[in-house]
Amino acid sequence: MEKRSKVVLLPCKAYEEEELKRQLKRGLELLGGLSSIVKKNETILLKPNLLKKSETEKAVITHPAVMGAFALLLKEEGYRQIKVGDSCGTSTARKVMELCGMDQILSEQGVQAVDFDRGVRVDFPQGRQAKEFVMAAEVEESDALINICKMKTHQLERITGAVKNLYGCIYGFHKAKGHTKYPDAHSFARMLVDLNFHVKPRLHIMDGIMAMEGNGPGSGDPVPMNVILMSQDPVALDSVFSHLIYLKPQLVPTNDQGEKMGLGYWHPERICLLLPDGEISMEEAVRRFGNPKFVVDRSPQKSDWWVWMAKFFHIFQKKPYILEDKCIGCGICVDSCPVEGKALKFIGKKAPVYNYRKCIRCFCCQEMCPKKAIQVK
Ligand code: SF4
Ligand code: SF4
Repeated sequence: MEKRSKVVLLPCKAYEEEELKRQLKRGLELLGGLSSIVKKNETILLKPNLLKKSETEKAVITHPAVMGAFALLLKEEGYRQIKVGDSCGTSTARKVMELCGMDQILSEQGVQAVDFDRGVRVDFPQGRQAKEFVMAAEVEESDALINICKMKTHQLERITGAVKNLYGCIYGFHKAKGHTKYPDAHSFARMLVDLNFHVKPRLHIMDGIMAMEGNGPGSGDPVPMNVILMSQDPVALDSVFSHLIYLKPQLVPTNDQGEKMGLGYWHPERICLLLPDGEISMEEAVRRFGNPKFVVDRSPQKSDWWVWMAKFFHIFQKKPYILEDKCIGCGICVDSCPVEGKALKFIGKKAPVYNYRKCIRCFCCQEMCPKKAIQVK
């Protein structure tokens, strides 16, 4: 029989610590136990999604209760050397954690919140797309990284889940630079797969109790999906996420490239999907836990020829635009733009104006806008 990747689906309707801890514990048992994943003497780095300062109910960031419950579980199992950090889009990890109360919850567990404020260049000659990375030093210095991502939509990659969340391991402004180096969804996805191979997280946990649909990953709408997903295969985990939102998993570039490059499996026949009380088929999971109305880009994949034409002639491409009545003129979008000379600027009006000929459609501006003023059409 062909090898299959285990994905655990934990039904969970609320961010309640005891219940979360009980469910996560069961999830770990189903994956073979915590001791099979991390050794007691290893240093652990927890990597949530801390995209930007945001209230937890907006579903932009991994919920502090999930982080707290998992940290508590680690402590109870005797793990001592635990840190938590991320390379945020704006602000710093500690400030983001402060605003949502995550720092308080984690400090009660003795977990140290860290900013990724040092970078280290690492060669990755075996990379199919990326031959080097500038990594956050904390990532390189930890023995075991545990990825605690959020279930959200994404304009470039359709979804951001386990594979994409690792991009926060890149140091500082090198994240923005990466968008100019890998400007389209597939080259960006291949780089992310290389990055996953480099970091080799031991475990992926997805907070999908309250997910984000629509204009994600920073300006979408919260929608309850009532699940936590766990796996050691990030592609399989993201594939289950895709199925639950009625998005063909092969349409997600990180799934497609992830399987082609050998990171994991998106095909359902290569996934062993487990509920706390046993295996379940993908069809049954979708029937019980799926949401056909989840707002996500389900449009068919364009051919390479079409993509080339659209880029060359600047036509038929998705593009960001600003709702002027929502814009407060803060300039965060301009600061976030990685293009040299900027692809959007203030030129007399309250809201910045796009130069679509320069814009590489990375959607960093849309991700970072604090007022949901940037939409994509
Ligand atoms: S579009 Fe958003 S980020 Fe840009 S200036 Fe307006 S409010 Fe700020
Ligand atoms: S304007 Fe926005 S989408 Fe275009 S390149 Fe700049 S940040 Fe990316």
